[in-house]
Amino acid sequence: MTPARVRFAPSPTGALHIGGLRTALYNYLLARQTGGTMILRIEDTDQTRFVPGAEDYIIKSLEWAGINIDEGPVQGGNKGPYRQSERKEIYKQFTDQLLKEGKAYYAFDSEAELEAMRERLRASGASGQQYDQSTRMQMVNSLTLSAEETARRIAEGKFVIRMKVESGKKVVLNDLIRGTVEFDSAQVDDKVLMKSDGMPTYHLANVVDDHLMEITHVIRGEEWLPSAPLHVLLYEAFGWSQSMPSFAHLPLLLKPDGNGKLSKRDADQLGFPIFPLDWTDPRTGETARGYKESGYLPDALINFLAFLGWNPGTDQEIFSMEQLIASFSLERISKSGARFDIHKAQWFNQQYIRMRSAGELARWLQSQCAQKSIPCSEEKAEKIASVLKERITFPSDLWNAGEFFFTPPTQFDLGVVSKKKTPQTEKVLDKYAIELSDKPRISDADAQALLEKVCLEEGIKTGQVLQLLRVCLTGAAGGPDLMPSISILGGIECRARINSALLKFKS
Ligand code: GLU
Repeated sequence: MTPARVRFAPSPTGALHIGGLRTALYNYLLARQTGGTMILRIEDTDQTRFVPGAEDYIIKSLEWAGINIDEGPVQGGNKGPYRQSERKEIYKQFTDQLLKEGKAYYAFDSEAELEAMRERLRASGASGQQYDQSTRMQMVNSLTLSAEETARRIAEGKFVIRMKVESGKKVVLNDLIRGTVEFDSAQVDDKVLMKSDGMPTYHLANVVDDHLMEITHVIRGEEWLPSAPLHVLLYEAFGWSQSMPSFAHLPLLLKPDGNGKLSKRDADQLGFPIFPLDWTDPRTGETARGYKESGYLPDALINFLAFLGWNPGTDQEIFSMEQLIASFSLERISKSGARFDIHKAQWFNQQYIRMRSAGELARWLQSQCAQKSIPCSEEKAEKIASVLKERITFPSDLWNAGEFFFTPPTQFDLGVVSKKKTPQTEKVLDKYAIELSDKPRISDADAQALLEKVCLEEGIKTGQVLQLLRVCLTGAAGGPDLMPSISILGGIECRARINSALLKFKS
């Protein structure tokens, strides 16, 4: 496999959307699979949309997700700089080249003139392009003005440079996911390449940088597909067709019901994160919760994201990063949008929590206890973690589901109490409590044997007292396996809880 040089090229206009993280992931998988290079390029040429802190946020998000960058603003590399705002001088050479060859031109139209043109087009019922082959000769530009007037306006410094899209050209785009897509150059308008502030537009900077950085595959979201014909024309205009990268436009992430693109609003309404990490918008102060802080494990999220648009063609669902790298292929990415199902993300999280060692889960629980100033030995934490492991979705559930191990219940499921409390079951529990009172340490098996013994003496089945016993000890009708829980609580604590609960139920 030829080593791929791929880039993730976000604009620092806010937090990284979860779809952006998937784009980064697919790029990364191809880079690692081919022994290639993963590049991070910050596309910050639109100064009006620049958000302080966004670049740092993107870098931290990638780091957390385990997507390692080989060349980028932090790592450096010999094709840098990797921030487009630091490459301003480079782009100028290329617009100069196009201007010299008659493949680009200066345009001086004011906003009012542009709006008048749009109005004329609307009135004539024309749809689609605006500033293009059919309208450019009616506009204020170096094609319609005299050489002197053009020079005068350039000297004033208020101009943009537009691409002069050739008419009657067939543009062929070979997309690795969508196959061959053909466009007529008449559909492409004369896009601005250089803005009046001397900054290149996305289109110019993106193509020039992909070329100079020797990118082999452009893997990006489907929303960039409409820009691709212009990009192909730019490669041709520069004479770079032979080394043009392959394109792969990824399917959209759809709302859970499959109707339309997933937005932050949908995620907010449905109560799930849309960003990898917590984010505070420096412009509005608005905060948004991240996957990390919501308790998603990075490898679970990565596994989930990998499957949003790609599948291995087998039944296997659990893939570590290493396995994804080995199995990934652009050919197996689907063309149709991928429904975003947060329940599936939770399922992956559960699976990944189960794969963690008891020691790791115990450390999570110990730190949750420490935050509440509740002491918890390593031994106790490990035992609790092992009974709760199969029952939790997020690390924080260790505390939520295991709080009763530390504090006796104050609320009881009274439905169970009224159904299961009889003089006989009460008597069994009373006797059980007495049996437990001299056994601070008790194994699961002994706790079970003791209960069976007492039940036998009273002539009832253990099944008739189990739920009531659980409510006495934990307050709730459901929870982790009872005998291991009794063993963790210890006989003395269990006795106290049974006695005090039975007393409460009397009143
Ligand atoms: N800067 C573009 C973005 O924000 C990059 C698109 C591309 O990858 O070409 O998504």
